[in-house]
Amino acid sequence: MARRVKPKLAVWKFASCDGCQLSVLDLEDELLSLAAAIDIAYFKEATSLEREGPFDLSLVEGSITTPADAERIREVRRLSKSLVTIGACATAGGIQALRNFADVREFLSVVYASPAYIETLATSTAIADHVPVDFELRGCPVDKRQLLEVISAFLHERRPNVASHSVCVECKSRGNVCVMVTGTPCLGPVTHAGCGALCPTYQRGCYGCFGPMEAPNMESLSRAFRAAGVPERDLVRLHRTFNANAPAFRAESERHER
Ligand code: SF4
Ligand code: SF4
Ligand code: SF4
Repeated sequence: MARRVKPKLAVWKFASCDGCQLSVLDLEDELLSLAAAIDIAYFKEATSLEREGPFDLSLVEGSITTPADAERIREVRRLSKSLVTIGACATAGGIQALRNFADVREFLSVVYASPAYIETLATSTAIADHVPVDFELRGCPVDKRQLLEVISAFLHERRPNVASHSVCVECKSRGNVCVMVTGTPCLGPVTHAGCGALCPTYQRGCYGCFGPMEAPNMESLSRAFRAAGVPERDLVRLHRTFNANAPAFRAESERHER
């Protein structure tokens, strides 16, 4: 009987810290089963071996910050049957999207001795702003169980079963006392689930590293923050972290900047 050809996986990096690619390697217990089911054909973080495309599944980490990357992502899309973006950089522009609220040339002049050699874009943007994307997985970094679910869904040709509710749902299912009752601002009500409410479990407010949940009520949360005495300037800062350029967080931060 003819052996079934394994689907080819490629893992790509754009502007990022590599943390989401490390989440693939963090799969540890599942990695051997994964390698048995899928042909890891291109993954610079893990191996110097590289095979040519096309690829059945591309996992894309990182945001678009240079003209060269804007060109390269189109080539990656062309080579990929399915393209999934992983992490806050790839789905929202990442922490580097803070440049979108300022003048990037000013940063260049402070950081580099010869900024004339740097070729960069004025903004950091999500992969979906440049090419069609089949699925976006949020997180900074992504959660490895959700990542496994996305890869498994791809292998079984079904839609990934990744919850679209907020961190609050995970927080309540862990039986946590809400940190907001002690006046600690928490973005849990508007943040996508996936971490198991890690920070509130240790009495810290959520700072939104999984990005906006589906249909977040940003204004309502800001009213609750104000009532708890959070100053207006902090409302800008609270929404400008890992997912500063995610449309819901960006709009809310700009509303408080006026
Ligand atoms: S989303 Fe976070 S962990 Fe992932 S590559 Fe970007 S900065 Fe790193
Ligand atoms: S601590 Fe944060 S995540 Fe938990 S219930 Fe309160 S607001 Fe929601
Ligand atoms: S609680 Fe919020 S900040 Fe903490 S890990 Fe989860 S999503 Fe990220």
